[in-house]
Amino acid sequence: MDLFEYQARDLFDKHGVPVLGGVVATTPQEARAAAEHLGGGTVVVKAQVKTGGRGKAGGVKLAHSPDEAEARAREILGMDIKGHTVHRVMVAAGASIAEEYYVSLLLDRAERRYLAMASVEGGVEIEQLAVERPDALARVAVDPTVGIDAAKAAEIVATAGFDADTAPKVAEVLQQLWTVYREEDATLVEVNPLVKTADGRIIALDGKVTLDDNAGFRHPDHAALEDKASADPLEAKAKEHDLNYVKLDGSVGIIGNGAGLVMSTLDVVALAGQAHGGVKPANFLDIGGGASAEVMAAGLDVILGDPQVKAVFVNVFGGITACDAVANGIVSALGMLGDAATKPLVVRLDGNNVAEGRAILSAANHPLVTLAETMDGGADRAAELAHTAA
Ligand code: GDP
Ligand code: MN
Repeated sequence: MDLFEYQARDLFDKHGVPVLGGVVATTPQEARAAAEHLGGGTVVVKAQVKTGGRGKAGGVKLAHSPDEAEARAREILGMDIKGHTVHRVMVAAGASIAEEYYVSLLLDRAERRYLAMASVEGGVEIEQLAVERPDALARVAVDPTVGIDAAKAAEIVATAGFDADTAPKVAEVLQQLWTVYREEDATLVEVNPLVKTADGRIIALDGKVTLDDNAGFRHPDHAALEDKASADPLEAKAKEHDLNYVKLDGSVGIIGNGAGLVMSTLDVVALAGQAHGGVKPANFLDIGGGASAEVMAAGLDVILGDPQVKAVFVNVFGGITACDAVANGIVSALGMLGDAATKPLVVRLDGNNVAEGRAILSAANHPLVTLAETMDGGADRAAELAHTAA
């Protein structure tokens, strides 16, 4: 889960990372009140959207009075930034910036460890810097079993080339950011800019945090950070039914049981799609071990609700839940969905009680259902149907 900047700010604050005061506002009037609350001086009005480049898009503006804060908020609220509508702004205390730095901590999957990045040239051009002058962005491997202790923090600031006065201050902030990363189970903590103020303080002026949803059980408080209003309705529905669902861009809906089977089904469908106009999988949906009628109905409901889906491939291996139970699940799911089921379904069953399962589907003779003998055959048929329907 990606956090809004104001949520990252609050987490930073909780773990001692130096931040400035910030108040969320959803109307220009609230923005004025927030500016007054922050002392009536200079503030920054910042669009709260989960995308970068807000500054360049005009979503970060200085205001020198509560009047101005209200006016800037009126301009920014409702703005579209890279496809994200601005529903709230953060009114933050203004900082007098002497220098802008960049620091981040992230998960380096390929190396099975963490990576710290830092640059003395932070700010809104960091992406360009990373491409054009990669040497200006220090990359230091972090051993997950050690983390960022004083020695590692010193190594990072030395590699990035901070001056003698600034280095120890940034090193301290890096250790505080590490606490955020570890204690909150984050997979990304990025600060751009980390600034040095005119009076020499180091402050995190912007924060980007991604929390690891797999560690959610350790953090009951993280549930409150979820942005329910803009959650994808299909993802929300899948979550309600404890289904593992990931939306993709293609047109062949996929339902399988077990992550491994679903992943190989994605591969097989993508391959088969090459012969049918390049159609691709529309999603990943794992209905898990207990492929009951209710679970199957919930799964089909989610998949069929995606307007991009033109055909569905159900690829289930009967194990603890045998194929006859799965077949009954599909038949009653289609019954439950009634007219809501409008797209062709290719079903491939194998495993425990496969003959009984196929017999049940044949007997039901549902006009939308095609039975496939093999996984490759099913993928090919589903890709063909999706291509014809497109
Ligand atoms: P982003 O463009 O989405 O990364 O948004 P940021 O929060 O990083 O803001 C963009 C830029 O606005 C920063 O790099 C700063 O130069 C500037 N900025 C942000 N907050 C302040 C502030 O309090 N005072 C001043 N003077 N500039 C700020
Ligand atoms: Mn930024």
